Parts: sequence; structure tokens; C-alpha cells
Amino acid sequence: MIKILVVDDEIDICDFVKNFFEERNFRVFVALGGSEALRILRKEKPDLILLDIKMKEMDGIQTLERIRKLDKNVKVIMVSAVEDQDKMEAAKKLGASKYITKPLVLEELESAVKAHVKEGKNV
Ligand SMILES: [Mg+2]
Repeated sequence: MIKILVVDDEIDICDFVKNFFEERNFRVFVALGGSEALRILRKEKPDLILLDIKMKEMDGIQTLERIRKLDKNVKVIMVSAVEDQDKMEAAKKLGASKYITKPLVLEELESAVKAHVKEGKNV
């Protein structure tokens, strides 16, 4: 089963995305901030992370830097409410696979996730 970690400081978004992917047979973990995300990354080794950029405690770019210290290969899709060229560049340098803007269109999110999870794994 493919494991996804959803990182967003808005619990409604976490729940919404979690329900959507669980219905499609993914295993979904949620984190409301960067440090919780790092804890889950160590423990659960997700295949893919959906990472919000704008978060209070540690933003998405700082979180991504710390993710890369633990795991150079995990796929990361950045999520942001606004198009921010600087943040997009920074995320790309840190190996983010894609950048999606809110409001989330779940079908778009689903195809992005499916395109980036490890080959050979069944969804
Ligand atoms: Mg946010």
C-alpha cells in the first residue's frame, strides 16, 4: 500500500485530503507542522509527502530542508495558496517534484500523486 504524508497547518485540509486518498486505498498520515512531519517520516517512511508552504512553526521550505537531511529520495509535492516564484525555486533546488496551488482540486492532486509514487507499486 502506498503511504502518503500530508503536512498542513490547517486541520480541515489534512482531513479532506486524508479522506480522499484513504477512499482510494492509500495509507495516509497527517502532520500539522514540520516537526511532527519529521517524526512521521522517520517512523513510517512514506512514499510521498504533500507539503504546505505556509505554516506557522516551521514553514514548508524549512521543513523540506530538514526532510532532505533525513531522506534524499522521498518524493515531495509542494502545496501553496499563492504562486510564489522564490519559494518554488527554493523547493525545486531541494528536490521537490511538483508545486500545486490551492484551492486543491482533488483530481489534479490524485494524478500528481500517482505520477510521482514509486514505479511498480500498485495504487
Ligand atoms: Mg498553511
